[in-house]
Amino acid sequence: MERRIGIMGGTFDPIHMGHLITAEMVCSAAPLDAVLFVPAARPPHKDAAHAASMQDRLAMTEYGVCENPHFFVSDIELRREGPSYTVDTITELQAQLAGAELFFITGADAMNDLYRWHEPERLLRSCRFIVATRQGAPLDELLIAEKFTAEERSHIQVLPTPHLEISSTVIRARVRAGLSIRHLVPRAVEEYIRERGLYRADDKNV
Ligand code: ATP
Ligand code: MG
Repeated sequence: MERRIGIMGGTFDPIHMGHLITAEMVCSAAPLDAVLFVPAARPPHKDAAHAASMQDRLAMTEYGVCENPHFFVSDIELRREGPSYTVDTITELQAQLAGAELFFITGADAMNDLYRWHEPERLLRSCRFIVATRQGAPLDELLIAEKFTAEERSHIQVLPTPHLEISSTVIRARVRAGLSIRHLVPRAVEEYIRERGLYRADDKNV
């Protein structure tokens, strides 16, 4: 039987319970055999101040998924030179995971923005998309109908997921302010952040 594998891309700076709960809900509902977390090389528009290094983000993502036997991490985008385009990542993963059916998992915010990505039409046709929608972050159906053909849109599946007001931005800000992040990230990630002194106002790793 063909394996069904979810691909969850993100900066994961750091990975948090919002990512993990969403991936697990999608994994069980779709259903998928596994979810591969793919930390992205930092996009130029993301502010790098008080951000963790690539190695730290990869390590935290690995700690974050280690309790879930269906979750795996790929460093495919971190190893690549130059800009990392999702369409290239999907093509490479398709070759690596020969025979698997790939499902790219995004939040509605990322899907609403997809037409601005590199070669969005080819990307949409290259795999299936699962959009985890949550209250307060709806999919912009009109915009998507305007930008993509019906055939391209048939690759998008919408899946309602619980609304969790957690973001990496909030976690970085809480650490910087000296506030607790317990239960917002897995315990191993919390410990890693503390031991490495990440995201602190006096972060020596920046
Ligand atoms: P930042 O605050 O730095 O932008 P982030 O929390 O949004 O980080 P990303 O790594 O940018 O995390 O997100 C990766 C993917 O996870 C995106 O598809 C995004 O829509 C989704 N995502 C992020 N936070 C949540 C959440 N709380 N619930 C569901 N999906 C989420
Ligand atoms: Mg974000």
